[in-house]
Amino acid sequence: MIPAVVRRALIRAYGNFVMKKSGCIFCQIIAREKPAVIIYEDDRCLAIEDLHPMSPVHVLVMPRKHIPTLKDGTAEDEGLLGYLLLVAARIARDKGIVDGGFRTVINTNAGAGQTVFHLHVHVMGGRTMRWPPG
Ligand code: 5GP
Ligand code: ZN
Repeated sequence: MIPAVVRRALIRAYGNFVMKKSGCIFCQIIAREKPAVIIYEDDRCLAIEDLHPMSPVHVLVMPRKHIPTLKDGTAEDEGLLGYLLLVAARIARDKGIVDGGFRTVINTNAGAGQTVFHLHVHVMGGRTMRWPPG
């Protein structure tokens, strides 16, 4: 296991190049090698409760396929990427955060706040969201 401080420094310096599938914590969650609160799963994706929620509802929707960042998606992933958004909207409905408004976020690369290099959609709600985000 790489210490968190080293991991963060590596991500800052090398981005997703160092975080290959074998060291990917979301792949480990998908493989049931690491615990998580899984609230939805099917043959294409998984949705888990964020470990450090930034809003009363904070869910992460991720493909089973290891795609490090949004920019790594290819034409082959077109349907999958759209599907993640449909699942995100369904989770928002199930969590009762549609009427109050909810936010879907995909951070791409460290400069935008990405810390886990396995593509995921944040689904956040249950509080007022400010714009622009910091
Ligand atoms: P990012 O910063 O890459 O856009 O989002 C990564 C998210 O994953 C963060 O909100 C962080 O709290 C969450 N996270 C990081 N490690 C874990 C983990 O081991 N389990 C869960 N459930 N969430 C995690
Ligand atoms: Zn992965």
